[in-house]
Amino acid sequence: TLVPRIQLNDGHSIPQLGFGVFKVDPAETERIVADALEVGYRHLDTARIYGNEEGVGRALAASGVPREQLYVTTKLWNDDQGTQSVLDAFDRSLERLGLEYVDLYLIHWPVPAQDRYVETWRTFEQLRDSGRVRSIGVSNFMVPHLQRLIDETAVVPAVDQIELHPAHQQPETVDFATEYGIAIESWGPLGQGKYPLLELPQVTDAAAAHGKTPAQVVIRWHLQRGFIVFPKSNRRERMAENFDVFDFELDDAQMDSITGIERAGRLGPDPHAFG
Ligand code: NAD
Repeated sequence: TLVPRIQLNDGHSIPQLGFGVFKVDPAETERIVADALEVGYRHLDTARIYGNEEGVGRALAASGVPREQLYVTTKLWNDDQGTQSVLDAFDRSLERLGLEYVDLYLIHWPVPAQDRYVETWRTFEQLRDSGRVRSIGVSNFMVPHLQRLIDETAVVPAVDQIELHPAHQQPETVDFATEYGIAIESWGPLGQGKYPLLELPQVTDAAAAHGKTPAQVVIRWHLQRGFIVFPKSNRRERMAENFDVFDFELDDAQMDSITGIERAGRLGPDPHAFG
């Protein structure tokens, strides 16, 4: 399967569909990521706080997939924001992953209360210049946080990874990011199993019309909106299902109907207050 790539504002590109490992048990991560790689995923999304970077690294090493065909993202946790602490935390993530570089490094949350994300971002620029990170970005940054980076630093983030699914679409952040060439990554793309997205008629009708599953329809909605997406599953058959989304296309009416799903508010923490 050829996964489309999204061009980033720094000259690099990223596979639009990947595999996320939030809440994947560290003891099971190596097996689960090995399955994902066998299914065909090449883009993996982890974070220090997930506690499973080592398992991801072991699976990558054992897979024999050439490094240049892989795309690996990890994230800086909130208590590591700063300057020296960023450099130290990055070294440790790289070590746990067993890699010489990561493709994308993200500030996991802005944590406005500690007011260190601008300093942290300047350190991210240094990491990028060192060549050990190809692209730098942010996560859970809302418009005021993005605006500060743009006003006070020299580099516009390559991506913003935010909670995004049909019931929580964050149009303000998406519009602002689009204006500045910041690619959007959707986290919790299927509603994290907390919101019954896959049972809504807007989704199940489109699924029936295409002979696909509700999850495949929702993933397709993200892809056709231009978002980068990395659904998570521990089960190999669902990994394969979530990857098998390139043989159909939602039409405009189906896209509009899913975009029109009633807003349910966020499922995760409030980025203005969290951390
Ligand atoms: P998700 O929306 O991908 O939902 C995962 C859940 O959906 C699974 O546990 C399973 O219950 C269900 N599911 C998966 N495939 C299915 C299928 N084919 N049919 C039916 N049900 C299915 O939620 P997520 O894992 O939270 O989000 C994806 C990734 O986003 C994470 O793994 C992580 O990499 C990233 N993430 C980032 C942040 C952040 O703060 N930056 C927060 C949460 C998640």
